[in-house]
Amino acid sequence: MQETLTPPAFSNATSPYSDLVENQRKFFKTGKTKSLAFRKEQLQNLKAGLKKYESKFVQALYEDLHKPEMEAYATELDVSVEEINHVIENLGSWMEPEPVATPLFFQPGRSVTIHEPHGVSVIIGPWNYPIKNLIGPLIGALCAGNTAVIKPSEISPATSKVMSDMLADMFTPEYVTCVEGGVAETTELLKERFDYLLFTGGTEIGRIIYQAAAKHLTPVTLELGGKSPTVVDEKSDLKIATKRIVWAKFLNTGQTCIAPDHIYVHNSKKVEFIALAKKYIGEFWADGQASKDLGRIISDRHFDRISKMITGDVVIGGDTDAATKYISPTVIDNVTPEHPAMQEEIFGPIMPVIGFDSIDEVIGNISSGEKPLALYVFSNSSKTKKRFVNETSSGVVLFNDLIVHAGHAGLPFGGIGNSGIGAYNGKIGFETFSHKKPVMYRSTFGDVAQKYPPYTKGKMSFIRFAI
Ligand code: NAD
Repeated sequence: MQETLTPPAFSNATSPYSDLVENQRKFFKTGKTKSLAFRKEQLQNLKAGLKKYESKFVQALYEDLHKPEMEAYATELDVSVEEINHVIENLGSWMEPEPVATPLFFQPGRSVTIHEPHGVSVIIGPWNYPIKNLIGPLIGALCAGNTAVIKPSEISPATSKVMSDMLADMFTPEYVTCVEGGVAETTELLKERFDYLLFTGGTEIGRIIYQAAAKHLTPVTLELGGKSPTVVDEKSDLKIATKRIVWAKFLNTGQTCIAPDHIYVHNSKKVEFIALAKKYIGEFWADGQASKDLGRIISDRHFDRISKMITGDVVIGGDTDAATKYISPTVIDNVTPEHPAMQEEIFGPIMPVIGFDSIDEVIGNISSGEKPLALYVFSNSSKTKKRFVNETSSGVVLFNDLIVHAGHAGLPFGGIGNSGIGAYNGKIGFETFSHKKPVMYRSTFGDVAQKYPPYTKGKMSFIRFAI
């Protein structure tokens, strides 16, 4: 009698989102998302959505973060549109099967690898760059031929609402949809089985997300945080180093995952560094609290958390206003490992300065901590640069500048260890959201008789020789 096999249930989870995910899975199975034409058309659609909702996004970013208009365009909207352009231009060649040489033993034969979409993806985002950190991964998901469920952060509610409206306007829900909400909604959503998950947020929440994904063996990319050190050695252009550090530190009021967290400055340059920092802070935000170019802290909780770090040798700033969640650009000198700002990722406008005498000390400190998302080194010594590349580990190492690597579509963006798993950006995003599938074409011509039992010494010698 023939045994009847019952296929395993695809998902045993039920949540308010079961239908939504199921509908996306059905749509994915139609195969419509797979053609180059469809993918390009949908990326154009996404671009059109970003343009159509541009002014609403700018307004929402201001409501949530007091984000300056310039930063809204430069770090959220324009970069996203530019990435879409880059992907549309190159997608055809990325989708081409990649030939792989086929060894003699497998001849006649031909081998390739192809990029196959995973299926239904989920993208969970943070509040600090609430457009870029959702749209960047979404570009990866769509260009790779997946469907996507987007979960913006509830901590930036105005932007979350515009994102939801934009996606509903531009896409059908079985292809791209937005689920708004916080912990409760995300917990329910993650009961569902997804084929790929990309999460951006804090390391501790990343662990929770990873566990939820593990239940379904869902592959993940985790874009997490941490303390990104910056080093200014004695052989660097101090003026440009300080200017760039001040810009990068206080961009988005320090609420940037790849912001320089704390600054190691060679003791021979520390006094000058602080004087220059004071000069540039004064120039950039001359109007202080009235400056339209300075954002605010996202929430009361974060305002309280960051305010507690303003202690010790405060040499610049230190002003706060709880009512408007304002914290002025603040520099603290002579910071020790016990200082409150050194206990966690700062994620605010506080810049601790730590003096050092030898690069060995700094490399030792960096190597003994968790692997950072970014490491920035200002130095003109090729020996020093080589040492940082070889003796430290981080998501990225960038010399003589900060943050700009995130806009380079050819470089992977991601962390290592506590700062993350995997990466995305441009082609890497396409690869992240694809399964690289080997495909081998063999012929039935020319069968190797020696591989079949019964095995004899002669057959074994032949096979071992051939292998
Ligand atoms: P978060 O981890 O608090 O929240 C991120 C997302 O997770 C939100 O959508 C939130 O709703 C959801 N979430 C929160 N708690 C949850 C829970 N218990 N269960 C399920 N879902 C939950 O992060 P955040 O405060 O929004 O962002 C700040 C952190 O993100 C910083 O550590 C920063 O470094 C990091 N970050 C990293 C990158 C990167 O690309 N590596 C980019 C931006 C921010």
